[in-house]
Amino acid sequence: MALAADRLETLLPDHKPALTTAQARAEAGRCLFCHDAPCIAACPTGIDIPLFIKQIHSNNVLGAARTILEANALGHSCARVCPVEVLCVGDCVYNVKGEPPIMIGRLQRYATDPAVHGGIQFFEAGSSTGRSVACVGGGPASIACAHELVRMGHRAVVYERNPWRGGLNTDGVAPYKMQAEESLKEVEYLSAIGIEWRLDTAVGDDVTWDDLEAEYDAVFLGLGLGTDSGLGIPGEDLPGVWGATRLIRAIKTGAGSLPDPASLGAAVVVGGGNTAIDAARELSLLGVPEVMVAYRRDQDAMPAYLHERGHAVEEGVRFVFRTLPLSFEGDRRVEAVRLTALDHDLEPTGEPYTVPADIVALAIGQARLIDLLDQVDKLDHDWGRVIVDPDTGQTSNPKYWAGGDLANGGEEVVNAAAEGKRAAYGIDGWLRENGGR
Ligand SMILES: Cc1cc2nc3c(=O)[nH]c(=O)nc-3n(C[C@H](O)[C@H](O)[C@H](O)COP(=O)(O)OP(=O)(O)OC[C@H]3O[C@@H](n4cnc5c(N)ncnc54)[C@H](O)[C@@H]3O)c2cc1C
Ligand code: SF4
Repeated sequence: MALAADRLETLLPDHKPALTTAQARAEAGRCLFCHDAPCIAACPTGIDIPLFIKQIHSNNVLGAARTILEANALGHSCARVCPVEVLCVGDCVYNVKGEPPIMIGRLQRYATDPAVHGGIQFFEAGSSTGRSVACVGGGPASIACAHELVRMGHRAVVYERNPWRGGLNTDGVAPYKMQAEESLKEVEYLSAIGIEWRLDTAVGDDVTWDDLEAEYDAVFLGLGLGTDSGLGIPGEDLPGVWGATRLIRAIKTGAGSLPDPASLGAAVVVGGGNTAIDAARELSLLGVPEVMVAYRRDQDAMPAYLHERGHAVEEGVRFVFRTLPLSFEGDRRVEAVRLTALDHDLEPTGEPYTVPADIVALAIGQARLIDLLDQVDKLDHDWGRVIVDPDTGQTSNPKYWAGGDLANGGEEVVNAAAEGKRAAYGIDGWLRENGGR
């Protein structure tokens, strides 16, 4: 599906633009090619970082891309969206020396851009095993799983309820890290080796689990998390009160009728995680003059990454801690939020106060897909978090595997990619041992 050309995300520039060849070669030349490379250990997909940096340095850019994509099929988007500050870059030995760490993410982007943009493939479908696997959910976990399965010779068919592919990589990650178009390009590139897609198809509604079990030898669950959770307070249904992921999806894809943020005066974002920071930064960068993040605990308890919070502060986002919305006020649409301060025991204290808000984003978590999962026979889950074998990704129902946010509770794209790949190996081993159906 073509995305709306005038979607708001296109107004937000890339915060880490591509390196030039001279910059990349110079940065690659700084790498110490450490023997015990802590950067590799910090990468959930175990990319051989010093090797690909060495390949860049010797001008073997496509070789570097192959090294990256062999370890992580989604290495192209991970180069842009990974929180490298707390992964590979955070563990680079240069930090200990008090010098700037190697710009690993930007070098990774330098390496993968030519391959993905030029459609240069390094892998192909394996010779057919005659086995087939349904991958449910079209995000990073299923894509990584399907890509590996096709390389092994299995047929992989991805079911996605949206009209677009890529999951949150397309409709969730902050546009200044990666725009939806770039994620779609990556999916196109990866799918070219033979991944099949069934878009606009919600499993559980349009197709039943029984249908999938009858048609496929195995099923991989990469459903991610559910819709935005609400607070259950008065005024939550007022126009202008958005779930944060729905708001971000509107910015990224043009889906939904989001007013032009530049025409708004004030926004309140409720929550303290990375999604809250993303929503606040996106609204601020799109021109909302007053953006406030309301979080119910202290600053130190905020789960959002410190570096992301720092960027938000630099961009003018205001943080109010130990505060809780009581109601959303307004006539025909939201105009204000009534809040209370909280004491150290998180009990209301003092007089409630009101702040203006033309738009509100609730970033207090995503619902779990409990009802959907309960439709699957003998599938153990912990309140919607599917329990898997840590070595193979297999669930309690031997025909099902799972990975990504659905199984890890909500981490990063790179974790979903690693878990999708792990499941592909698990499925392949099981199909060999059990002869399929
Ligand atoms: C706002 C936001 C910003 C983020 N930013 C970053 C970031 O900058 N960097 C980073 O590394 N991570 C980021 N993440 C986390 C990252 O996006 C996820 O960890 C990752 O996308 C998980 O991949 P997944 O495949 O498990 O799930 P998802 O990406 O959620 O994909 C699941 C897919 O399943 C589909 N689906 C659900 N139910 C059905 C059904 N019944 N039938 C068919 N399809 C179905 C959904 O439509 C969706 O497309 C962000 C998350 C959010 C919410
Ligand atoms: S830790 Fe830093 S210097 Fe050492 S190999 Fe990794 S990127 Fe290079």
